Amino acid sequence: MPTDPAIPFNRSSIAGSEIEHIRDAVASGQIAGNQAYARRCQNFLKETLGVPEALMTTSCTHALEMAALLLGFEPGDEVILPTYTFVSTANAFVLRGARPIFCDIRPDTLNLDETRIESLITGRTRAIVPVHYAGVGCEMDAILEIARRHGIGVVEDNAHGLFGKYRGRPLGSFGQLSVQSFHETKNITCGEGGALLINDLSLFERAEIIREKGTDRARFFRGEVDKYTWVDIGSSYVMSDVLAAFLFGQLEAWQSIQQKRQTIWERYDNDLREWCAAHGVRQPSVPAHCEQAWHLYYLLMPDPPSQAALISHLKERGIGAVFHYRPLHLSPFALQWGNQAGQCPVAEDVSDRIVRLPLFYALSPGEQDRVIGAILEFDA
Ligand SMILES: *Cc1c(COP(=O)(O)O)cnc(C)c1O
Repeated sequence: MPTDPAIPFNRSSIAGSEIEHIRDAVASGQIAGNQAYARRCQNFLKETLGVPEALMTTSCTHALEMAALLLGFEPGDEVILPTYTFVSTANAFVLRGARPIFCDIRPDTLNLDETRIESLITGRTRAIVPVHYAGVGCEMDAILEIARRHGIGVVEDNAHGLFGKYRGRPLGSFGQLSVQSFHETKNITCGEGGALLINDLSLFERAEIIREKGTDRARFFRGEVDKYTWVDIGSSYVMSDVLAAFLFGQLEAWQSIQQKRQTIWERYDNDLREWCAAHGVRQPSVPAHCEQAWHLYYLLMPDPPSQAALISHLKERGIGAVFHYRPLHLSPFALQWGNQAGQCPVAEDVSDRIVRLPLFYALSPGEQDRVIGAILEFDA
């Protein structure tokens, strides 16, 4: 029996003029940071998301590190974040000596549970970092109100949520600072890359300096100072224009990328509905006031054994389905802060039951047929 080619969990592909733009960038002779394509990407983000400033960065992780620096995190300060997220959401602040305070998630959207935030706030809390899981907005009205009442910052980790909206307003436009990821697993990509969105303009000048190794190089190139020099702490967080050129090709094609992802997402949701109902499997829940970003499609299996069984059933058929996010509060590194099992029961339960399905721009209808067919054959 001939075996079908494997269907990976994710596969990168070209969506438009990425390669032409790279040739053009190289031909210009200027491929370091802060060049023409990076500026085009920044202008695109500013216009499309309605944010006042955007800076391209080497990764979302680095944009988070910049946010921790800009908000003045010091050893002993605390940051509140969902336990169910990627490790960088915590590490960026831990690098500054901060203590991560892990909050549980909502059972419906798997987002930061806004009703649990206030009880975690102390005199040392400096910021809340909501993560728009799967590209569905967190309850930003409640989160912004809590932050305002306690005089603390909000950094949106919008790695999943580019082009999503909450009550009609783009995700990424709510926090003082927001971060984007263009890692290959994200909707729009250049392999590795990110952006810092700056809604609080008082942070912009220092953001430019921190991103340019602690120098006022950006002001020098605008002709605002006659030489550039070391003025603050900083690092090397600027995206190369080779990557920005690739990324701009993806951003130009954003509508067709998002449309394709929506089609795939909706087909999973429709074609698996009956099977899910018959097998006690929960499908994603998207509140009516959230326009989601179609970042990922997941199934919540009835119990941990069925999670493992479905993943290996699909693997035997050459299909890459995966779980993710072991809750950060239970990771070996987080034990030093006295975290323990049972502290975030929803996240602990979800991480043992979630299965994510292949969802990427180049997934063909025939490949999706195979994924759906294989799931319908599975009897947990
Ligand atoms: C992918 C991701 C990041 C990190 O992005 P990089 O660009 O790889 O640094 C951070 N937070 C979340 C929620 C992510 O999914």
